[in-house]
Amino acid sequence: MRMLGVCGFAFATALIAGGAWAQEVTGTISKTSADCAGNPNALGVSRTVEIDTSGGPDFGSQQFKAYDFLQAGEAVLTFDDGPWPGNTPAVLKALADQCTNAIFFPIGKHALWHPELLKQVAAAGHTIGSHTFSHADLAKLPADAAEGEVEKGVSAVRAALGAPEAPFFRFPELRYTPDLVAYLARRNISAFSADFDSQDFRLHKPEQVIASVMTKLSQYGKGIILMHDFQHATALALPELLTQLKANNYRIVQVRAKAPVITLAQYDEQVGSQLGGAAADARPLASVVRTIDSVTFDDRFSAMR
Ligand SMILES: [Zn+2]
Repeated sequence: MRMLGVCGFAFATALIAGGAWAQEVTGTISKTSADCAGNPNALGVSRTVEIDTSGGPDFGSQQFKAYDFLQAGEAVLTFDDGPWPGNTPAVLKALADQCTNAIFFPIGKHALWHPELLKQVAAAGHTIGSHTFSHADLAKLPADAAEGEVEKGVSAVRAALGAPEAPFFRFPELRYTPDLVAYLARRNISAFSADFDSQDFRLHKPEQVIASVMTKLSQYGKGIILMHDFQHATALALPELLTQLKANNYRIVQVRAKAPVITLAQYDEQVGSQLGGAAADARPLASVVRTIDSVTFDDRFSAMR
């Protein structure tokens, strides 16, 4: 399997610089739907497509070429590895300011750590899929472990959202096996590769991210674009990147699923106890702490007499 080098997982680059930037990017979403209706100055959404994931059709010409639904000049924005404090809210604000829309592929662990951020993504109208539980290299795992990583990720996102997400899945680092693609197909989940990778995880300056996306988009003429809401430089780059997409007459396509994913009960149970950061092997509170004696109102009343 060819290593495509996507989704580098450098926590250091995702840390917030702090100070003014953090304040600036964590502001509330500034545009309402009323501001967006027919707004000619916003990038907006040119059309919305709905995908029937029955049988697991796969997308993104880097790996899956059967279903290319984009026309010349069209782009799908996708963001991996979130949700992450600071960076994800900044991405949401930039998208809202341009009245546009994206697909997010959150990591299950991150979703459980920051469910409130993932709920903000959903509330803003974006499409949410999943991206494994712990960003494992699925091509290196035995089949049952790899399938477990997929399913735990699906269930973790569902737990964080409080509702099932879209049956859209992105392989970490785009590393897949034919067996796993077949497994997803049996689960009626679509794999989303990309038409091109921004390589934003390697780029530490916003201007580099902008140049990477605009250059590749010019070369390909259209595309499902792989970026990371986890990455600090991407969060900083997005307002100007969206401005340049608009200035160059690219059109954004919103992607929806016809029906939500169906999670598996055993994985829902596994992740349920981890919501909010509890340890993976934590015992239920009731089995750890049990009330064996209590003072009733009558007891206290009688003690006062
Ligand atoms: Zn990733």
